Amino acid sequence: MSSPKPFDLAASTYKHVLDAPKPQVAVLPLGATEPHNLHLPYGTDTYQVTALAERACADAVAKGASVWMLPAIPFGTETNLMRFPLTINVNPSTLGRMIGDIVESLEQHGVKKLVLLNGHGGNELKWVLREWYGKADVHLFICHWFRMIADIRKDVLDDLDGDHADELETSMMLHLRPDLVQMAEADAGSMRPARLETLKKGWVEYSRPWHVLTTNTGAGNPSQATAEKGRKLADVFVDRFSSFLVELAAADVDADFPMESH
Ligand SMILES: [Zn+2]
Repeated sequence: MSSPKPFDLAASTYKHVLDAPKPQVAVLPLGATEPHNLHLPYGTDTYQVTALAERACADAVAKGASVWMLPAIPFGTETNLMRFPLTINVNPSTLGRMIGDIVESLEQHGVKKLVLLNGHGGNELKWVLREWYGKADVHLFICHWFRMIADIRKDVLDDLDGDHADELETSMMLHLRPDLVQMAEADAGSMRPARLETLKKGWVEYSRPWHVLTTNTGAGNPSQATAEKGRKLADVFVDRFSSFLVELAAADVDADFPMESH
């Protein structure tokens, strides 16, 4: 194929789509528009998830899979960050409906496998997979990129306590978009603990009020972040996720899918 990014639907012409092999898998990156401490941009989640999706799709296509990357949804669920200026919230139900409309579009085009690649912690979308199971001729999967590499965090990072604009996200941005990182502006990203013991232990879940939890929206200290740490994490993710795309593209969809055949 002549296109430099033959998997990138937004960058593709109608002619390229007509000439391409039958699509096997679609990847939908899910981002967010929200502040990330004082040093990372509002579009951090979208930039990260798009760059990671691009690399993994390029790798999968190079290995012969027919994968399309859809344009990223740049808004996520932010109900607990709305005290911060210009944060843009899309409610879970709205996001779920939009994904549902995309599922129906893919079904009309004969794409039977859709992978949601999520880059924002507020997007808990397993319920969308459950709601659509059996309703359309499209099988849905969700991958939260930061969970896919959670097991190697301890090998690469020094501070393991963060979860937003922390050493992980900052390292990733220093690797992927260093032009958008203002490292000198970062604060320590300290988090205020909950007042109830059971919440501290994690035995009961709740939606954290981010304006009380944090000072400048950062959760986790980004000070030891480096581009090299980001590269290591990104490489492992791309390798794992592209392997999944290749395997998924080749898998037969029968009544037992995706479980092993008897
Ligand atoms: Zn983020």
